[in-house]
Amino acid sequence: MTTFIATIEHVVKGPVWGCQDCGQCVLHSTGMTCPMNCPKTLRNGPCGGVRENGHCEVKPEMKCVWLKAYDRTQDWPLPSTWKDEYNHLRPPVDNRLKGTSSWKNFFTKRDRWTPAGWKNTTEEVAAQGVDH
Ligand code: SF4
Repeated sequence: MTTFIATIEHVVKGPVWGCQDCGQCVLHSTGMTCPMNCPKTLRNGPCGGVRENGHCEVKPEMKCVWLKAYDRTQDWPLPSTWKDEYNHLRPPVDNRLKGTSSWKNFFTKRDRWTPAGWKNTTEEVAAQGVDH
């Protein structure tokens, strides 16, 4: 069921960022480029199918979401902490949150629930000091 706050979020973020209502927003870490507009909904960078002109292999008329995210991260006057997070590993999208408010999920920390099987991997990466 769509809540009032999810409706407000959709109205605000849809036209501006092309928000697809995933309910776990990562815009700040992707140069304000919604990764859910990638036809493969990749959350951690481009696939291997980026064309020579930087466009998407699925939608040739569209620039790769991840190239756009990289350019914006470099060029836009975003906070340095946001720019740093571009290279952080983002957890897989939790489709149970689709259609819910990412604002609400942020404040309730619901968007930080760790999917089963992911926690150890994240901890291992952190322990190794790998930055992505
Ligand atoms: S809530 Fe999800 S779909 Fe909407 S802008 Fe943020 S990352 Fe994109």
